Amino acid sequence: MASQPGQLVKDDKTMGETVKLAAGRGYLAIPGPSVMPDQVLQAMHRASPNIYAGELVEMTHGIIPDLKRVARTQHNVAIYIANGHGAWEAALANVVAAGDKFLVPATGAFGVGWAQVALGLGAEVELLEHGQQSTWDLARIEQSLRNDRDHQIKAVLAVHVDTSSSIRNDIPALRTLLDDLKHPALLMADCVASLGCDRFEMDAWGVDVMVAASQKGLMVPAGMGFVFFNDKAASVRAAMPQVSRYWDWQPRVNPEEYYLYFCGTAPTHHLYGLRAALDLIHGEGIENVWARHQRLAQAIWAACEAWGQEGGPLRLNVTDPGLRSHAVTALHIGSPDGTRLREWLEGNLGLTLGIGLGMAPSGSPEWHGYFRLGHMGHVNGHMVMGMLGGIESGLQALNIAHGPSALSAAARIMAQG
Ligand SMILES: *Cc1c(COP(=O)(O)O)cnc(C)c1O
Repeated sequence: MASQPGQLVKDDKTMGETVKLAAGRGYLAIPGPSVMPDQVLQAMHRASPNIYAGELVEMTHGIIPDLKRVARTQHNVAIYIANGHGAWEAALANVVAAGDKFLVPATGAFGVGWAQVALGLGAEVELLEHGQQSTWDLARIEQSLRNDRDHQIKAVLAVHVDTSSSIRNDIPALRTLLDDLKHPALLMADCVASLGCDRFEMDAWGVDVMVAASQKGLMVPAGMGFVFFNDKAASVRAAMPQVSRYWDWQPRVNPEEYYLYFCGTAPTHHLYGLRAALDLIHGEGIENVWARHQRLAQAIWAACEAWGQEGGPLRLNVTDPGLRSHAVTALHIGSPDGTRLREWLEGNLGLTLGIGLGMAPSGSPEWHGYFRLGHMGHVNGHMVMGMLGGIESGLQALNIAHGPSALSAAARIMAQG
């Protein structure tokens, strides 16, 4: 029996039935938690260690400088048993006294979220919302800073990559603006999504405080939050009337007693996982890690742009490639096809994509028109090609219009090496 390419042969046992292809190793392609490397999983699979002396203590001392190398800083890092929201609160608890003013240029749901944490601590927040499709408008930020003649604004809270919109904001431009205006506000950056994925240079870019978490580019389970801070931020902390005992970053840096690192029991297994993840990152080299994320992101964009041809409804949320994250990609495909596609891929191919976030009210009909791809951390070329091939299958299975040659377009980018 002759068969056409792409058609089932007549005596194929599977003819006429739907076959699920989801068994096998699943792939969680959401923007955090990210894929955990086997090295991280194996490092964590162990009995509880002594938390007073020995290997764990020595390992923690060694983790600190290697974390700072990822953030490109010579300054300080405090580690918290917390997710990203906890790291947000940890950073702010050291600089927010009730009534202090903060400026937040938001380019997605996470900028708004950080502003809400500041509000909860009693801050007065000037929120400059930029919607979900554009980077911040420096002229608007400049106007707010100029209006602040007596320098009441204590810090600017800046999300580097907003994971809801997948916009990558220009942190050095914000530093230049503050310097040009001679405004003393702290520059505080949220790198939860970008650390270990997109280039970030804390010291060279003049960032005073940076927050990150374990479960995205750092490839460790959720549960560790990091606050990096420089001497200027430390002096702002020193001038605070009081700081919450638990969130205080000061005792966590270079502590005399090991338990002070974590204000209590250490996150034992997370530390073993983090040690393994840092070895992977520095073994590859941070510059290579950034370049890998960039190239993989370019392949994803090329495929998405091809699918959007010839009347296909798929659209990248961020039109300017220079403003796109290399770790996460937000997409619009029209309701309800975003949700249909995600559900089909998970049920039939074992591929889980991220939900849309902040683009439409959760539960509204429009909400089903968005989804996101996570490509942060332990991700390589064949994983991305597998994800893209999966999406191509889903578009075909669900009869969602799409332009041709998306996989060739991605392969061409990968072939450049
Ligand atoms: C994921 C994320 C957060 C929040 O982290 P959680 O661990 O979910 O609390 C904050 N900011 C950004 C940019 C993120 O991507």
